[in-house]
Amino acid sequence: MSEDKKGSKVYFSRDFDKLLHKLEEANEFNLLKDNVGIKLHFGEEGCVTFLNPKVAKAVYEEVSSQGKKASFIECNVLYKGSRTTKQDHINTAIKHGFGFAPIDILDGEKGEASLEIPVEDGLVSSAKVGKGITKYDSLVVLSHFKGHIAAGFGGAFKNLGMGLGSRAGKLHMHSDISPHIDREKCNACMTCINNCDVNAISLVDGKAKIDDEKCIGCAMCIAVCPQKAVRIPWGGSTNEELQKKIIDYSHALIDYFKGNLLYINVLQNITEECDCMGKKQEPITGDIGFLASRDPVALEQASLDLVEKQMKGGFDKINNASNSVQVDYAAQKGLGKKDYFLV
Ligand code: SF4
Ligand code: SF4
Repeated sequence: MSEDKKGSKVYFSRDFDKLLHKLEEANEFNLLKDNVGIKLHFGEEGCVTFLNPKVAKAVYEEVSSQGKKASFIECNVLYKGSRTTKQDHINTAIKHGFGFAPIDILDGEKGEASLEIPVEDGLVSSAKVGKGITKYDSLVVLSHFKGHIAAGFGGAFKNLGMGLGSRAGKLHMHSDISPHIDREKCNACMTCINNCDVNAISLVDGKAKIDDEKCIGCAMCIAVCPQKAVRIPWGGSTNEELQKKIIDYSHALIDYFKGNLLYINVLQNITEECDCMGKKQEPITGDIGFLASRDPVALEQASLDLVEKQMKGGFDKINNASNSVQVDYAAQKGLGKKDYFLV
């Protein structure tokens, strides 16, 4: 860990009010404009270790107190769950204690509202993100830091890049191949066929079948199938490709918002897997505190270092993905510096 003043500034406190006070004192909120999206993850139903709503409330009140319009923003998830559609997503958020602020699901009722923005020099040439980002001019990326089965860890980049991907974007990051249909589960109800804009699905021998040549990867069939018969091709991207695509998507969004993003990582309730898991998980280590920075690479590196220090190097071994891929690739793409100093 860097102890000198080389690198980017990362604020750290065990007390969230103190962290906010320090950020305010240092004018770190000045980069935020008039319409601020606070990007967070409300937690899948069944998860109990998602971001503490009291932390989200403190950020919302801090941003609002500065005369800015603030909303919690998210996009729908790829899989079938409690956050697959806009209304279910909002209901889950309210149930989890986030109902005190405006909640804006950016990719429409079923993830159909997608906007393509360019990625500079990435594994992908464009990022498919929630179209509603156009309503915002700056972001607070408020992330619960934890492990992730394929990305190694989920922090600011995962929250930003994967989280603001539309359903099509999320499929794009996870795989280069089309979804496919489980014939055992399909009852030929026609719902997917009627919802596929490019007529890529037809009934073959009494079951739905996707034509890979026609499929454009919008992922609508996954959202609408009442039988959960449309399978997501998890693993279509390797873990390393997935992590790099998350950074590419983050890169596109950082460029879109002209760098007007403030990042806060919450190192509490650190679990092995992410908050999309609809199950109770026990924390794998004790709470560490809260970090903030304008530099997402420095912030992620500092978060990793603090967790690794506390777990004596055990955090990198909990999932089948190296924790260094995201930060190394992001630094290589010029999104920030791995060197930092703690304030
Ligand atoms: S929506 Fe699901 S059950 Fe209905 S036809 Fe399509 S795959 Fe089969
Ligand atoms: S992913 Fe979209 S384009 Fe492809 S089959 Fe499903 S609904 Fe059609």
